Amino acid sequence: MNTLQDTMFQEIRNKEIFNLAQHYSLEYLNTIFDRNVFPTEKALENLSVFDEELPINSTNAKNVIDQLNTFGTPATTATIGGRYFGFVTGSAIPVGLAAKNLGTYWDQAPAMNVLSPIGSKLESVVEKWLVDLFNLPKKTSAGFVSGTSTANLCGLAAARYRILERNNWDINEKGLRNSPQIRIVTSKQAHSTVLKAIGILGLGKENIEWIDVDNQGRIIPESIPELDANTILVLQAGNVNSGSFDNFEIICEKAEKTNTWVHIDGAFGLWAETVNELKHLTKGIEKASSWAVDGHKTLNTPYDCGIILCKDQEAMTSALHMSGSYILKSSERDGMFYTPEMSRRARIIELWSIIKYLGKKGIDEMILAMNQRAKQFANEIEKINGFHVENEVVFNQVLVRCNSDEITEAVLHNIQMLRECWLGGSMWFGKKVMRISICSWATTESDILKAVKSFEKALELSKI
Ligand SMILES: *Cc1c(COP(=O)(O)O)cnc(C)c1O
Repeated sequence: MNTLQDTMFQEIRNKEIFNLAQHYSLEYLNTIFDRNVFPTEKALENLSVFDEELPINSTNAKNVIDQLNTFGTPATTATIGGRYFGFVTGSAIPVGLAAKNLGTYWDQAPAMNVLSPIGSKLESVVEKWLVDLFNLPKKTSAGFVSGTSTANLCGLAAARYRILERNNWDINEKGLRNSPQIRIVTSKQAHSTVLKAIGILGLGKENIEWIDVDNQGRIIPESIPELDANTILVLQAGNVNSGSFDNFEIICEKAEKTNTWVHIDGAFGLWAETVNELKHLTKGIEKASSWAVDGHKTLNTPYDCGIILCKDQEAMTSALHMSGSYILKSSERDGMFYTPEMSRRARIIELWSIIKYLGKKGIDEMILAMNQRAKQFANEIEKINGFHVENEVVFNQVLVRCNSDEITEAVLHNIQMLRECWLGGSMWFGKKVMRISICSWATTESDILKAVKSFEKALELSKI
């Protein structure tokens, strides 16, 4: 009798399910730029086929793949395409998808060098590349995590470790009970994941000293409270609504004088540093202590790819690993010292591939094009009576509103129903806005024109 194990050997040998999955994948990619950006009502209804009781018996592998393709594929959002403007998603560069595919079959976990020499090698190489790309201090270390949510958590954990250590308090041994006070200072526009990290780390959201912002969502430097060495100051490169940047040059200098730990949440905006025409936005970031950034947003690596960069390697590795710094004296990189997880997938494979593929010039070109498409969109939409651009388009974000909140809401709903592009809504200083994020390599000038047409149609529909 054929056991399940026999069947699995057979599946590797005859390659059928792999060829099938590959066939569906390539078909998907070939239609991604033309399909509806959001699933149809029918596709969403069909998702109910997944509502099954726990299967008791084995299912044929081909049927598993077929079910995913038949009902899963139509229910995806076309974030890889050129007209998905929701949240700040990023697309996926072809070579990154191909490399991820190869890496999937390697199935490596770069927790330790011995567990994955290739994963470990690529992590050490890319760490240096990132330090070069972002012009950070030479001794900066990188940890490769799932996204900026985790990267923010790691940066703030390193800050917490260092500040308490300076107060002769080992957070790992003693915990937070009766520990010296850490002050936490951040912008009224800080991203929700920064607040989440503050909560998880036991610093307490109620203890945050909030800083006022200007009409673009940037910290007003004069509003920053007196800083000291027991303070963590969290800044932002790329406001999730307006795309604006805090004034790092002035603020970091202030913080440096008082030995304050500065963490920069640069999920999508830190990449401005890699673009000649945009790096004025990130001037002064090298004076911070830690930086969180995503690969899967602006750089367009596939999901999931976040990076924590930290100038204080000992603080980072001590915060994320209990056994202290002496283990690091091994000459090889053991990735688990730089991340909360022990096992994790080798997402470095895609990150390495994409940086290798684009090079510094390619990164510059791709990100500048996003900026230009965002400006194009803002220019085109302002020409239409009834739309107003609410922000200075400094990077890749455009905030648009109509003549009233009611109309803005109706128009946004219509745009989403038309499915020619997709974007979400937000609030900006008390007003409803539509938030357009241009962050795909694939967005062309004609995608922008198509999207503007869709906005126009949606406005007309709202008048009926
Ligand atoms: C997206 C984003 C985050 C969270 O990043 P994830 O990769 O989704 O975890 C944090 N901060 C800002 C400014 C963001 O745009």
